[in-house]
Amino acid sequence: MTVSSNPSYIGRFAPTPSGHLHFGSLVAALASYLDARSVGGRWLLRMEDLDPPREMPGAQGAILDALQRYGFEWDGELVRQSERHDAYAQVVDRLFSLGLAYACTCSRKQLEGYHGIYPGLCRNAGHSMENAAIRVRVPELMYSFEDRVQGLFGQHLGRDVGDFVIRRRDGLYAYQLAVVLDDAWQGVTDIVRGADLLDSTPRQLYLQELLGLPQPRYLHVPLIVQPDGHKLGKSYRSPPLTADQATPLLLRALRTLGQATDDSLTLATPREVLDWGIARWNAGLIPRTLTLAEAQLR
Ligand code: GLU
Ligand code: ZN
Repeated sequence: MTVSSNPSYIGRFAPTPSGHLHFGSLVAALASYLDARSVGGRWLLRMEDLDPPREMPGAQGAILDALQRYGFEWDGELVRQSERHDAYAQVVDRLFSLGLAYACTCSRKQLEGYHGIYPGLCRNAGHSMENAAIRVRVPELMYSFEDRVQGLFGQHLGRDVGDFVIRRRDGLYAYQLAVVLDDAWQGVTDIVRGADLLDSTPRQLYLQELLGLPQPRYLHVPLIVQPDGHKLGKSYRSPPLTADQATPLLLRALRTLGQATDDSLTLATPREVLDWGIARWNAGLIPRTLTLAEAQLR
């Protein structure tokens, strides 16, 4: 069934347990799964549970349950970011002692009016790491990459981003740091995820360079949004993926990704829909757009 085989391909799905999976998560999971399996690659699952205060009780179990009911099979053991703190701490300490990162004690109030771009107030203050956020210094350079769907994308880190947080003041590690370390540690070669993360990628490219880690390939699928343009998420009460809807929602996700479906599949099991998708996967058909309004999808 597999058209070509590339056992060196390693992909992953990395949900955050702040809520249930919804249709937008399904589109991202399906794209990364089909992209991996269509070349005989591995597909890993990582729980991005970095932020306990924002975790929804029961979400981890519900996510695993939904993935299984929708027919997804992952390789190896589930990795949890909550079990990786030692690895993150080592890197933060190293960047700090090399002067590549520094401690920032600015309050939210002090940073108002800078539009989220840190103005470097603490760059040369020499604060100690205790009770401070840790920010990595960014160079005044463009970081660009060729996305497999979205094309060339770049940001000037100094102008568009500023020195960014890798460990929060409350001691929690930042997504930007954890995702780079874990993708490298797990040997991920191909990152397929939602386009809301496109503008995180240049920061991640910079961390990869700084830490001497390989740069994976990237494919950002359109973000599914509400008719009014809002991101689909729990704050907009998008429905959780229910088991009885698995086949129709998988078919809808396939069509959202530009892939063909067939009427005969309406009675298929989720696993059969996935196998159909693997056999015919063509990433070149994914719409080259950052968002798609859910209401307009068939
Ligand atoms: N955990 C992130 C999310 O659920 C995805 C991270 C990634 O794929 O790089 O939005
Ligand atoms: Zn500061």
